[in-house]
Amino acid sequence: MASPPPTTPPASSLHARQTIFAEGCRGSLTKILFERFNLRADCDPQTYGIGIKELWEIDPAKHQQGKIVHTVGWPMDSKTYGGSFLYHLEGNQVVVGFVIGLDYQNPHLSPFDEFQRFKTHPAIRPIFENGRRIAYGARAISEGGLQSIPKLSFPGGVLVGDTAGFLNVPKIKGSHTAMKSGMLAAEAVVALLAGEGREAVAYAGALRKSWLWDELYKVRNIRPGFHKGLWLGMVLGGIDTYLLGGKAPWTFKNHSDHDQMKKASECAKIAYPKPDGKVSFDKLSSVFISNTNHEENQPAHLKLKDESVPVAVNLPLYDAPEQRYCPAGVYEIVRDDAKDGEEGANPRLQINAQNCVHCKTCDIKDPTQNINWVVPEGGGGPNYPNM
Ligand code: SF4
Repeated sequence: MASPPPTTPPASSLHARQTIFAEGCRGSLTKILFERFNLRADCDPQTYGIGIKELWEIDPAKHQQGKIVHTVGWPMDSKTYGGSFLYHLEGNQVVVGFVIGLDYQNPHLSPFDEFQRFKTHPAIRPIFENGRRIAYGARAISEGGLQSIPKLSFPGGVLVGDTAGFLNVPKIKGSHTAMKSGMLAAEAVVALLAGEGREAVAYAGALRKSWLWDELYKVRNIRPGFHKGLWLGMVLGGIDTYLLGGKAPWTFKNHSDHDQMKKASECAKIAYPKPDGKVSFDKLSSVFISNTNHEENQPAHLKLKDESVPVAVNLPLYDAPEQRYCPAGVYEIVRDDAKDGEEGANPRLQINAQNCVHCKTCDIKDPTQNINWVVPEGGGGPNYPNM
């Protein structure tokens, strides 16, 4: 008797009248929706920051539960937007992190190394001396605010939370706005499902009447006010916030991040200090404590639209900036063995996809928009139990 033909598993698909997309910053499905439904036609480009964060257990004698410290500027130059946060939690734990605007111009800049250097400041270093670093992580955040909010509904779905860009930048906080947008989206979708129609247009109207819209309106000029540098940004932010109460008769525009990068030859190289292994560390030991795991032997989830671009364009023009903006050491230019003290020949980009902490920075900052982050197989990624 002939054996039955091999069966292929049935392709599974999910069908819903309405889908609420809540993918967080730079959602990969949301990116497709933006194009398919032209959702960004009437808003400014989204602008982003990369936040890098560590959790520490510190000497109890230095711990002050509830203490919060924020800084701006150092160690970056005054043209680059960013600053730190430091929170003393309970149980002698401290969260420390650094956010850098991804519209930075110098391709030699490494957000990871700026953060490591920040911890060596004489006012910061003593907090961590004799402490123990417990966890590490990184994630892009949406900084565009009100001007960059896309159309929020389309036939069959709506966008909520940071995939739409509801973060309040000066507060570095978006959980409350994400929750509010989710509640309003749910109400609009339930009302739609009870009747006719395919698009929950009432959602955007409800948002505009909510405290969320008022809150984002008041801070809309803070982030773009820093386009001309730290000092002017501080002055403009002060005028907008303290003199005008967020009701300035103007609204500054946002710009996209990937096209802000200058050529490597136009920018000064940055010499970062070597990590000391006490308060500052390298990328690989950091990735290790992010508990990142991906199923082996899967196709890389970092897709290059054009395989030639990293070496033909990014390397000569920008000195391969993916090697520095990725906070997990995923991208490496490798070469044949060097001979006679010369640089090795045959440069090529190696993608160590298993190290990826899913921050989405490469998808945002690559100067030619050649990198596409897609969801890896098997649900892998970083595992942040206490971040
Ligand atoms: S590969 Fe991209 S998404 Fe992954 S850690 Fe690096 S920059 Fe972030």
